Amino acid sequence: MSEIAIVGAGFIGLASAASLMRDGHRVTLFDPSGVGQGASFGNAGTFAHYACIPVNNPSVFRDLPRYLFSGDSPFRLRYQYLPHLVPWLARFMMSSLPRRYEASAAALAALLAQAQEGYAPLLANAELARFVRSRECLYLYSNAASFDAARPALDLRKKLGVIFDVLGRNEIRALEPSLAPIFERGVLFSDSWHFSDPQGFLQALFEQLAVQGLTLERSTVSAVEPSGDGASVTADGVTRRFGHVVIATGARSAKFARQCGDVVPLDTERGYHVRYPGAQQLISRPVGWAERGFYMTPMSDGIRVAGTVELGGFSDTRNRSLLDLLTFSSRRALPGLETPDNSWLGFRPTLPDGVPVLARSRASERVIYAFGHQHLGLTLAGVSGRIVADLVARRAPPLDLAPYAATRFGV
Ligand SMILES: Cc1cc2nc3c(=O)[nH]c(=O)nc-3n(C[C@H](O)[C@H](O)[C@H](O)COP(=O)(O)OP(=O)(O)OC[C@H]3O[C@@H](n4cnc5c(N)ncnc54)[C@H](O)[C@@H]3O)c2cc1C
Repeated sequence: MSEIAIVGAGFIGLASAASLMRDGHRVTLFDPSGVGQGASFGNAGTFAHYACIPVNNPSVFRDLPRYLFSGDSPFRLRYQYLPHLVPWLARFMMSSLPRRYEASAAALAALLAQAQEGYAPLLANAELARFVRSRECLYLYSNAASFDAARPALDLRKKLGVIFDVLGRNEIRALEPSLAPIFERGVLFSDSWHFSDPQGFLQALFEQLAVQGLTLERSTVSAVEPSGDGASVTADGVTRRFGHVVIATGARSAKFARQCGDVVPLDTERGYHVRYPGAQQLISRPVGWAERGFYMTPMSDGIRVAGTVELGGFSDTRNRSLLDLLTFSSRRALPGLETPDNSWLGFRPTLPDGVPVLARSRASERVIYAFGHQHLGLTLAGVSGRIVADLVARRAPPLDLAPYAATRFGV
């Protein structure tokens, strides 16, 4: 039994706490914002075990002009941030070359294949399982050309074991009659599910773990310092020693990795959501619109329209045109939607190859990294937590961890 600190109380930190406590460790979480207030708060809520195609893929080269210059592009670059972003962007483009992208997709598929099993211990609990809505996910294309362009990625998915059906106009209408008849093709991913309230799930998980002894320190960690038989955490000026420390600070993890001997090119893909209160009966499953880069997910409080990618660092300034795109496009897809009552900006933690880091630090095996889950942190939380616990216990993890090493960037 060890005293363990987890820095960051998002999906990855909470799932790690659950796995570590199952092994009998005493865990302290550090997070100034409380539970599930980072990227974990406002995501699309989908268990996307089919999403092994990273954003870095060869279509980036073809689509870049549209991404950068079209008004309805779900991808934006904040040009003020460009000087800072250049090294990340260069690596991202290199990772989009066919061979490298296929390696990233294989690494993601291997983790995703364990994702459901990773959640099993959490969802065996009825209080937590009540947040799960078991419906397939429907991903839509409004024109046949973009579906055809997506075919190579669908073929790779199939090769990597993802199960799906391709649908035509009528089948789409039969599944979701409230959708406007503007979609030519759809892909229905089987065995998927979504959370009715992602943050509510994390809060419920936290409350259960708190009864078993989990503590939450609402303070900001400034330093993690490894030493032979443990590591120390300095939070709000107070330093405490632990047997192990887990870094699960999402997009803010690079600083701690550097303190522990690893330079990781972690940046953020900013994403947005808008919420339509009380409209959840309009659709019965998460519906994605490929060309517009978002999902519409029926949640307990309404429909959440979440997605888009903005490369632009950590400024709190919201991109009005992306929020307008979400609103305008979701109303076009679902004419029954009225007016959104709130919006949100979150920071996905993204490495240029789209693969998370799940590894021991270079300086000490007592510091474990679990960050960089890009668009998949909710989906991969269970398996990531399990891997963290395996690394602490020195048990064999459920898969080869080489693709998830912090040292893979060679810096
Ligand atoms: C628009 C959008 C839609 C998405 N949709 C999906 C989806 O449908 N399915 C899916 O699987 N994923 C989705 N994602 C991705 C998913 O939300 C993230 O990958 C996931 O939330 C990352 O979890 P995390 O715990 O690593 O980070 P976070 O949730 O960001 O948690 C990190 C925590 O660390 C804390 N922290 C930071 N610095 C410090 C410090 N110095 N000291 C202490 N604490 C600190 C923060 O306060 C934060 O709470 C989406 C993301 C976005 C933005």
